[in-house]
Amino acid sequence: MPAAAPNIAALIVAAGRGTRARGQAGDPPKQYRKIGGEAVIIHTLRRFIDHDDLGPVVAVIHPDDQAALAAAAGDIAGRFRTVGGGRTRQLSVLAGLEALAEAAPDIVLIHDGVRPFLSDDLITRAAATALETGAALAATPVTDTLKRADANGRISDTVGREGLWAAQTPQAFRFDLILAAHRAANAAGLVDFTDDAAVAEWHGVQVTIVEGERGNTKLTTKEDLDMADVRLMRAGAGRPAAEIRTGFGYDVHGFAPGTSVMLGGVEIAHDYALSGHSDADVALHALTDAVLGAIAAGDIGSHFPPSDPEWRGAPSERFLAHAADLVSDRGGTILNLDVTLICEAPKIGPHRAAMRTEIARICGISEDRISVKATTTEGLGFTGRREGIAAQAVATVALATDEDFSR
Ligand code: MG
Repeated sequence: MPAAAPNIAALIVAAGRGTRARGQAGDPPKQYRKIGGEAVIIHTLRRFIDHDDLGPVVAVIHPDDQAALAAAAGDIAGRFRTVGGGRTRQLSVLAGLEALAEAAPDIVLIHDGVRPFLSDDLITRAAATALETGAALAATPVTDTLKRADANGRISDTVGREGLWAAQTPQAFRFDLILAAHRAANAAGLVDFTDDAAVAEWHGVQVTIVEGERGNTKLTTKEDLDMADVRLMRAGAGRPAAEIRTGFGYDVHGFAPGTSVMLGGVEIAHDYALSGHSDADVALHALTDAVLGAIAAGDIGSHFPPSDPEWRGAPSERFLAHAADLVSDRGGTILNLDVTLICEAPKIGPHRAAMRTEIARICGISEDRISVKATTTEGLGFTGRREGIAAQAVATVALATDEDFSR
């Protein structure tokens, strides 16, 4: 007779009243803020409730949030239990474990309520490792260079990152092991462990790492929540909460002696070069101004003054990449870019595909969101006289927003 499937429970810890993500007084705690049209904690609970291997799911919440959770639960109401939390994270977990003691699951996964992006696979792997070894911790290898500094920000040394891991959740345990560890810590008057692996380690339990996921981020600040909203919007989940902005850019550079021009990030052999302080890529300059315009962030000259020798001969992709970064920093995304080059020569058509590829790479978006067009002015004006090249560009960006435009 095959062994019965293990009983795996999940404890979602969401009792915190952290203020870091709160905009103004009266805003709900971050776990109840909506991303993709639904409260963060509901997204998180769904990951566990919808997982095929999971048994009971318990949410540990602040007693004051009972009504907020009930109001947010929607179609998963009745598919999880709630327990009131304690004054520290550790005491909240203990309260949740005690609530599961009677059911006595084989394994319990303990997970932050504000990490809604973990995969089914991570849940499966954490539970499997806990079954095998007793205790498992999702973690990712540290990739940033680590510095130690004094209180004045002066660096004293660089810390080697070999063997260092950044802890995430879920943290999965044999239920009897973690309940005993938490009860012992509480009995010893220790109540401020910041994660459950630390409680287990303190109690002499060997914890094993399972590879976590870069996308399994903890939504701590308002910026994190805005980014998460855009991420869900991109994935097509929920109701989009985006503000759409458009920006316009225009640039001209004159011809000078030379043998090639940079256009749209592509070097094209020509009878002349374009003169300018940087590499004079008129297409990327117009696009940079269009992106900056969409977020009302000034113009290319205010970010990269022509008087600054640093930009002499600079590749213009740095300007466009900077503008794209400013959009990301605001939790936004570039939806599309459209640029028109105005010149008699060189011929743009043969280079259009390469330009689209370059512009897409620089902005970190897909090529089907990039348009490159060209026209002549029928021999009229300065472009008609082959004195230089002009470019016009339009950018559309989406910015995350809480505003309700339906009013
Ligand atoms: Mg320019």
